[in-house]
Amino acid sequence: MAGQFTIAHMKACNDQVTIRKLAYHDELTGLINRRRFNEIFEEELKECRNKKRSLGILALDLDRFKVINDCHGHEAGDKIIQQFAERINASIRDHDILCRMSGDEFCLLARHVTSENDISMIGNRVMEAMKEPFIYQDKRIYAGVSLGAVIIENGKDNFSFALSMADFALLRSKELGRSQLVLFDPQMEAKVKRKADLEIKLREALATDSLSLRY
Ligand code: GH3
Ligand code: MG
Repeated sequence: MAGQFTIAHMKACNDQVTIRKLAYHDELTGLINRRRFNEIFEEELKECRNKKRSLGILALDLDRFKVINDCHGHEAGDKIIQQFAERINASIRDHDILCRMSGDEFCLLARHVTSENDISMIGNRVMEAMKEPFIYQDKRIYAGVSLGAVIIENGKDNFSFALSMADFALLRSKELGRSQLVLFDPQMEAKVKRKADLEIKLREALATDSLSLRY
């Protein structure tokens, strides 16, 4: 009958909710996934352009997570990822958004961030949340996290460039010994690109046996 809401309709709605949830969320942590994060981030950049606001992006990556998996097992690793997500989510402000990008990589969109000081405060809260051990089957497991951050003023950069700037800073944090926050500076990009270039050239030189020694 026209206009009647049937069980079939209800099921179709439920299916749609489930499909949307699966498409936009990470199964292990329940956080939003990269796809949804990119959408939110693009909307937020537009808003920042219109309202002349700044925002912060922080890339987070657990330290030496492969070792944790190797020593305690993949299941323990999964539990740590879940507990990490809960902890960081509980430590951030209500209007900030945490996403699991992939594996042990997370991203935090921090609204209304204008200064290095604002970013440092967020970084300190994340570091503070890492002080307590993670628990798996009564075992206490310690883990660290490295952070790279960038402040986007007035939404002027596109989201993929903004993410890559945060990633450059994260790489630098790993290089500096991990478990610290590094804020992006433009020289980092050139340095990382030079290093990647050199690596390609050295690989090619090794493959073609064209390295020679000069004295
Ligand atoms: P680094 O300090 O340089 O980040 O070292 P890392 O060992 O953490 O290396 P990297 O971040 O490159 O690798 C992350 C590892 O996380 C790779 C993979 O073995 C593990 N991993 C990825 N996804 C999952 C997952 O869903 N569960 C578990 N248990 N492990 C995962
Ligand atoms: Mg890692």
